[in-house]
Amino acid sequence: MIIVIFASHTNQKTAKEPTLQINLVRQMKNVLLILLIFNLHAAGQQRPNIVVVIADDHTMQAIGAYGARYGVSPNIDQLAKEGVLFNRAFVTNSICAPSRAVLVTGQFSHKNGHINNLTKFDGSQDQYQKRLQQAGYQTAWIGKWHLESTPQGFDYWEVLPGQGQYYNPDFLTMDGGQKTTEGYCTNIITNKVTDWLDQRDKSKPFSLVVGHKATHRTWMPDTADLGATDQLNITLPENFYDAYAGRTAAEDQDLSIDKTMLLGYDLKMYDDSIAALKENSISRMNTAQRNTYLAYYARIKADFDSKNLSGKALTEWKYQRYMRDYLATAISLDRNVGRLMQYLKKNNLLDNTMIVYTSDQGFYLGEHGWFDKRFMYEESMRTPMIIRYPPLARKGTVIQDLVMNLDMAPTFLQLAGVAVPESMQGKSILPLLAGEAKGDAWRTGVYYHYYEHPGEHNVYRHFGIRTSRYKLIRFYGVKNFWELYDLRHDPHEMRNLAGEMKHEKLLANLKRELQQLIRQYEDVEAAAVLDNE
Ligand code: CA
Repeated sequence: MIIVIFASHTNQKTAKEPTLQINLVRQMKNVLLILLIFNLHAAGQQRPNIVVVIADDHTMQAIGAYGARYGVSPNIDQLAKEGVLFNRAFVTNSICAPSRAVLVTGQFSHKNGHINNLTKFDGSQDQYQKRLQQAGYQTAWIGKWHLESTPQGFDYWEVLPGQGQYYNPDFLTMDGGQKTTEGYCTNIITNKVTDWLDQRDKSKPFSLVVGHKATHRTWMPDTADLGATDQLNITLPENFYDAYAGRTAAEDQDLSIDKTMLLGYDLKMYDDSIAALKENSISRMNTAQRNTYLAYYARIKADFDSKNLSGKALTEWKYQRYMRDYLATAISLDRNVGRLMQYLKKNNLLDNTMIVYTSDQGFYLGEHGWFDKRFMYEESMRTPMIIRYPPLARKGTVIQDLVMNLDMAPTFLQLAGVAVPESMQGKSILPLLAGEAKGDAWRTGVYYHYYEHPGEHNVYRHFGIRTSRYKLIRFYGVKNFWELYDLRHDPHEMRNLAGEMKHEKLLANLKRELQQLIRQYEDVEAAAVLDNE
């Protein structure tokens, strides 16, 4: 079986055909890696367990391990100290449900068919948990699922309907029912996770996904955390007042804190409690929750009204309020990561379990004046990815190689000693964890394609390539244009170089690389756009 894995990986299509010499070196490294996994399996240990904690919209800028200074992520930071932090991890399509579809299928959106939040995931297709289940793993997904169709390939699932609710959330259950659990969503999901872990068949390895709703809009903190971030005075990002010169899509978007973010719905500045109760998220609260919650925001509303803000002062007040709610919501998320880690430690599961902390994508915390995601720009294309797995990964390592959420499914299969099918388009990142592949030999560029237009927030359809230094984006549909960024000199993507004569050669080279990826990944829609140039 181990040899089968080896064969499937050397047969993977790559953009550039490696020379024989490189190929031999790679094969030797693969052999070493496989021997390592073989030894792990042969040492009488059970096959490794796999736990994926996937948050929603939890972005790197909020996480201490990625440089944030808000102090709201001690448990995730600790995980990074004990594991490996991927500094250049990307999603292939920065929006909620499509990202989860990529996670389970190991295929880009154009292959798994779930291109936007409006389509329904075809659960009959191949997914990593189905293969793990067939190989004797116990599989479960608990929490936010968002793929609308019934989860398949799981021995157990209990998921939020659609986006789910922060307070007293409903859960869809395997018997076809729907039941409400009282409490705060992030805590409840962890309770359900540990309940499932308690009753699982302990003679089998398990593969578990913990799907959190936090920190999705509208950033509703646990009542226990209301006010916890109010002392923070958050510095405006340096491009908060971006005027979008030379960037048409950025100019035309509808996801700004200034114009799009709502004082009532988003920031809870309700005229009175009757207005508040029009929100389902609040009317479903019990009396104690509602009293605490509304009293907190009523105090803020009174202060806000007394200030009578307008213009920039109002926008900046909205930004502070947004950040305080977002970060307070993230506190519970982090606390529950800590709870899960404590459970795994107490049950002696830490040494033989791969623990992945990630999000379905990044998010704007005021960069370019925005909230939300969708764009191929760094803040939303990147995603946190921290992996703890002591048998392979050296603790405290930071990896700069380009990885994608697309790589997760093949990684888990290889870890379990299960063959990775050719149809999966990602690559197992176990060689990176083992310190065995670096730089261009691993991957020279990642591919991205966003589809949800026309749609909420008015972000045009686009696709592109991100290399270790450059990014080339092609917007298409309503308006057609290129954007080119030199991330070394312009990390915040403020200056579009696509129209500048002196960058013509660079543009042409990147277009060629992009074409190669489109061919390699068989993206028909993108190919048609470029054919019609
Ligand atoms: Ca999301």
